[in-house]
Amino acid sequence: MILEIDVERCIGCGRCEEICPTVFHVDEELGQSTIVDADGCEYAGCCEAAAENCPVEAITYEP
Ligand code: SF4
Repeated sequence: MILEIDVERCIGCGRCEEICPTVFHVDEELGQSTIVDADGCEYAGCCEAAAENCPVEAITYEP
């Protein structure tokens, strides 16, 4: 499984954290999302949904 955030692209919008809060957390100081638990998807597909809904395509997810 590959899960990465491209920090050069991330604009800190928080959509990934809304979709998958156990995995992503937006650091307010950095203004960017970080991965807090790469294996923490609460239900199947949430990391994929987060990647698909990132407005700047900053999330790479490969099961
Ligand atoms: S959805 Fe994308 S741009 Fe928004 S905080 Fe998450 S990684 Fe960053």
